[in-house]
Amino acid sequence: MTIPFNKPFLSGNELDYIRDAIQRGKISGNGHYTQKCQAFFEQRYGFQKCLLTSSCTDALEMAAILLDIQPGDEVILPSFTFVSTANAFVLRGAKIVFVDSKAEHPNLDESLLEELITDKTRAIVVVHYGGIACEMDSIMALAAKHHLVVIEDAAQAIDQDYRGKPLGSIGHLGAFSFHETKNIQCGEGGMLAINDPGLIHRAEIIWEKGTDRAAFFRGEVDKYSWVDIGSSFLPSELNAAYLWAQLENLGRIQARRKAIWLDYYTYFSSGEQKPSLLNSRYLGYFAEAKQGLERAAFSFSQASDLGNAHLFYLLFADHSRRTDFAARLKQSGILAVFHYQSLHRSAMAKKYFPEQYLRNLPHADRFSDCLLRLPMFYELPDITATLG
Ligand SMILES: *Cc1c(COP(=O)(O)O)cnc(C)c1O
Repeated sequence: MTIPFNKPFLSGNELDYIRDAIQRGKISGNGHYTQKCQAFFEQRYGFQKCLLTSSCTDALEMAAILLDIQPGDEVILPSFTFVSTANAFVLRGAKIVFVDSKAEHPNLDESLLEELITDKTRAIVVVHYGGIACEMDSIMALAAKHHLVVIEDAAQAIDQDYRGKPLGSIGHLGAFSFHETKNIQCGEGGMLAINDPGLIHRAEIIWEKGTDRAAFFRGEVDKYSWVDIGSSFLPSELNAAYLWAQLENLGRIQARRKAIWLDYYTYFSSGEQKPSLLNSRYLGYFAEAKQGLERAAFSFSQASDLGNAHLFYLLFADHSRRTDFAARLKQSGILAVFHYQSLHRSAMAKKYFPEQYLRNLPHADRFSDCLLRLPMFYELPDITATLG
């Protein structure tokens, strides 16, 4: 029996809505289901304008085009993140200035930002790791002081607030992912939330391959033509139909993930097995894997790190303990996985950036080397139940 790290979740109506999209006779982008999903996000979270994309990577690339990032510009972002956070801006010729994580959490350390700002800095990209909010008040104030734009890489942060404001609605732009590993999913998918009204018009043009086709569909212009640069960033209606089924079940999905997270948390914080969903046989494997490791070999997500229950991680004292623990879990059939390899140490960074950009970032490296994510997906309790 293998417990996977992730399993895409079919919430109920996905296949019916895909069939319906086909019967409607339009399966390319920006149709019935795309508009339903976009309207849902705009109404529920107050984003000024939402555009579905084929991935969060695409949404970030759209953001970089929309902000006119140019060769020589500098963009500040965390080293402990997914490659797309950086790639999107490197594709426009920007240099990336990596910022370290906090000592206690993978999110960027906002107190380090100001000293990294130069006259070339254009933007700060924040990543809400595991759906935990970065310190947006101080980051937005700093950006305003230096006339910088802020992009929220909210790939993991759907349905989560920071001081009463939904993540993704605070920066000038927010990028979301609906990849099958995220809470709400459609295989490959994403969304750009445009919170600065001055950016909406051009965002639609970039989205529609540099044409004013979206305005044409609304009857605002009588023909559409090539007016700017752009690309094919729209997902097909088949993906949007799948996503719509997930959105109908957003509350149920989030509640279940939070209950699973709390089961892990209760178990690791008290050692007691009072889980509501995960069975004790399953949790017992973690105690077994821990045997032979020194006491206090790891710490785990803090109570305040529930966030949107995107992930649950353990943090080991060193790399070799993490490797041992993961290997023991694997022997019991449980697949736990590490996460990002810090970008400032990557082969690409070494090749592309001058030496002075590659400072030592000890916290990012520690999360790369010592963090381990446990299985986290909707059907996990059902699978663990079969362990008896
Ligand atoms: C998943 C993820 C992405 C990329 O999302 P895709 O939809 O797969 O392109 C970008 N940034 C972060 C922080 C992510 O977790």
